[in-house]
Amino acid sequence: MNTPDTIELRKEARVKENSNKKFVFSFSEGNGKNKQLLGGKGANLCEMTQIGLNVPPGFVISTEACLKYLEDSNHSLPAGVLTQVTEHMRQVEQAAGKIFGDFQKPLLVSVRSGSALSMPGMMDTILNLGLNQKTLQGLVIQTGNERFCYDAYRRFIQLFGKVALGVPDERFDKIFEDVKYKAGVKLDIGLSTDNLKEISQRFLNAVKEHTGKPFPEDVYEQLEIAIKAVFNSWMGKRAIDYRREFNITPQMANGTAVNVVAMVFGNMGSDSATGVAFTRDPGTGENILFGEYLVNAQGEDVVAGIRTPKAVLQLREEMPGLYRQLEELRNSLENHYKEVQDFEFTIEKGVLYCLQTRNGKMNGTAMVRTSVEMATEGLITKQQALLRLKPEMLEQLLHPHLDTTKKTTPLAQGLPASPGAASGQCVFDADRAELLGRSGHKVILVREETKPEDIHGFFASQGILTSRGGKTSHAAVVARGMGKPCVAGAEGIHVDVKLRQAIIGEKILHEGDFITIDGGTGYVYQGVIPTFEPSFSDELKTVLQWADETAKIKVMANADTPDAAQKALNYGAMGIGLCRTERMFNAPDRLPIVVEMILANTEEERSVALNQLLPIQRQDFKDILTTMAPRPVTIRLLDPPIHEFLPTQDELKEELAHLHHLKDTASGVNDLFNTLRLLHAYDESSKAAIPFNEKGIELIDQAIVKKELMLKKVRDLYEVNPMLGHRGVRLGLTYPEIYKMQIQAILEAAADCQEANITVCPEIMVPQVCNAEELIRVKSYVKEVQEKIEKERQLKLVFRFGTMIEVVRACVTADELAKEVEFFSFGTNDLTQATFSFSREDAENKFLPLYAEKNILHDNPFEILDTNGVGKLMRFAVEWGRKSNPALKLGICGEHGGQPDSIRFCHDLGLTYVSCSGPRVPIARLAAAHAKLGEAKSSSL
Ligand code: ADP
Ligand code: MG
Ligand code: MG
Repeated sequence: MNTPDTIELRKEARVKENSNKKFVFSFSEGNGKNKQLLGGKGANLCEMTQIGLNVPPGFVISTEACLKYLEDSNHSLPAGVLTQVTEHMRQVEQAAGKIFGDFQKPLLVSVRSGSALSMPGMMDTILNLGLNQKTLQGLVIQTGNERFCYDAYRRFIQLFGKVALGVPDERFDKIFEDVKYKAGVKLDIGLSTDNLKEISQRFLNAVKEHTGKPFPEDVYEQLEIAIKAVFNSWMGKRAIDYRREFNITPQMANGTAVNVVAMVFGNMGSDSATGVAFTRDPGTGENILFGEYLVNAQGEDVVAGIRTPKAVLQLREEMPGLYRQLEELRNSLENHYKEVQDFEFTIEKGVLYCLQTRNGKMNGTAMVRTSVEMATEGLITKQQALLRLKPEMLEQLLHPHLDTTKKTTPLAQGLPASPGAASGQCVFDADRAELLGRSGHKVILVREETKPEDIHGFFASQGILTSRGGKTSHAAVVARGMGKPCVAGAEGIHVDVKLRQAIIGEKILHEGDFITIDGGTGYVYQGVIPTFEPSFSDELKTVLQWADETAKIKVMANADTPDAAQKALNYGAMGIGLCRTERMFNAPDRLPIVVEMILANTEEERSVALNQLLPIQRQDFKDILTTMAPRPVTIRLLDPPIHEFLPTQDELKEELAHLHHLKDTASGVNDLFNTLRLLHAYDESSKAAIPFNEKGIELIDQAIVKKELMLKKVRDLYEVNPMLGHRGVRLGLTYPEIYKMQIQAILEAAADCQEANITVCPEIMVPQVCNAEELIRVKSYVKEVQEKIEKERQLKLVFRFGTMIEVVRACVTADELAKEVEFFSFGTNDLTQATFSFSREDAENKFLPLYAEKNILHDNPFEILDTNGVGKLMRFAVEWGRKSNPALKLGICGEHGGQPDSIRFCHDLGLTYVSCSGPRVPIARLAAAHAKLGEAKSSSL
């Protein structure tokens, strides 16, 4: 019961519990592995401190404190937090030799957010906290650098004002630009001390105007407000959107920690600098220090793209000693983390500090290359090299590049900030990008620079183009993370958001104009430039070879033609798991024969058509088997309802109406013509021009008869539920001559190959089976054909006979089916439909989106194998099938065969292979290796 008393008691108990609880951890004591508690940034700051890297002193306030704070209806920090913060502040003061709020030796700190998962730019950081009128004057005396102090001050007021007090950024920007304009300076660095003083004063006024209160002078009050602001940002729109877009669940990241770090200054003169670097090139993976820095600047200047920074290699000339230190830092980081690191550094008067590190986000090419190289260097094992690559990421590597022969003169050039090429219509703000992108347009987001609040525009765009900022600017980092192309800092472009246009030299680009960007070279082109498919890099080949060596489950491809088989082989397919014979029927030169076959009224008539199809199919099979030799090729006998090869009733009716009309016209013209001929009996020239003769009308009549026959047949074949109707093995048993022809084509192709000493392995697969008796019948056809060929050719055919498992009853009677076959192949597309009693098209169009949104069904079962339902049936079939036929070979050929989670499931189920579309084969090969490695991991736990 909730009487006021009990509420009071509970509250007290909570206060007590909280005040004993440890919420604050210094960098030297925090557990570097506990990212859930300390956030990624905090945990790594602790870890770097503890392995002896030069990190400024500081402490972390845990995510637990954040969650408790957000729960609290009074918006107060959990009891104990502030006391612990004050205690830790004392330690920082000692370590830094400065005092928070002190006039003589003022300590300034940054207040930074950081959750368990890195969410670039999602939360706001406040720098230079601890400045007020008093400490500012102290700092001036202590540093003897008034300009620096006011520079720090104006930054603090702006950040604190914006982040903690909610003053709109534009107010500050306007004042800033105003002073710059008046002073006639272009770059921030050109501002004089007086300019900065004026800016600071006007900033303070703006804060007062907006909040109705003066800017807080008490440094602990500043700190408390800042901590709360960081905590609040966890529930800010930007952060929530980001978590939703990337499916970040509370298990992955729950709440943000706050990091309080003693400030170090990169803006103390020409022996100071700040920068961001990667231990390897995140665009190519090359093993070189990669990054950017700015001399005499504070951290956020690089990231925000305010000035275009210099490449880190230039530091080698500018500050050689420091460059060497930076190289050392890079080695220590990689040796410790065994992963490419993305780190922030600041140099204060010649001393190097590391302010942050995290695992580097890279594109697919770089991930693959670094995997191979780090394994070869001995930094990681081959297994680790494989595990750090997400299978889906390989998709990027198979992404298109610009067709170099079709390139025109570029419009502009920027920095190649995230590789890949994309074309689309220009848009100049994120909202328009979202609007147009959602309505199906391909767009390129063109901005002066991007900010975290533009994130929704990124999702909707094909690529990003900015006119300011470097390779580590917000735009570049986010685009790389998403695997989208980005060109950054293309300085020749002037974006006018209001007029919705951009000016490049003489040219004006309006919203909606097409451009192409190449994130690999930094070039921007007008119009759409065609792209082409990339080839496999040596590194990718190596990685996939390691994957094949590791994996247990094999990866086959679905391929229906010799051409597709060759492509599948290039993707590394180990065979063909599904060859759909009906796809061969659809070619324009074959369809008329197939139609004849269907229209036939007697077996003899039908065999005329089948005799024409036989050599065609045999040749196809021969080509496919030879291409794949000696790998297995699973050929499925005819599956779809045959009316699919005929036009629809409506189409036929329309054609018939047309033909009748034509006949009337033709007869009419003939009558008219004959009348005219009587009138001009001696005019020879008219005779030659006779438009229709009897023959023509006869032809029309023939066509009418044929179409009427077709219409009748289509009516006969009409089914209420064709997908559950006369198809698959049921069709094969009604018209045995069709299946016999296909079996003959397969086995004769095999015989031809065997005679030519090509080792082939065809597998005949029967679709839609629900009953052992069906298999017994089809097997008798196979026997009959086999015996005939073996006798004629004097050889022993090598092949397998098997069935698809795609009907619920097939799963349930797997023990009986298994006695008749050598393999099962799960057709999970149909099996999913059958298990759910959903028709796929209707489900995906009508109710699955709602089911997903309301969490009634989490995943679309047609994309991700429903392991709880369909999977159970499969497990059952595997168990019972193996029991009655221990040598049974098992595979899956549904679309799920290319999906990493489903592959893991199939691996655990002990299937021999998965089969998927050709381009997904590389992804599946890596996923197959992960499945094996994951097995080792879960059994060692
Ligand atoms: P983000 O998560 O957006 O990267 P950070 O908390 O890392 O935000 O901080 C933003 C910028 O401020 C970074 O460039 C960082 O290096 C710099 N910075 C943060 N703390 C300090 C500090 N104590 N001294 C100097 N620079 C700092
Ligand atoms: Mg941040
Ligand atoms: Mg950072």
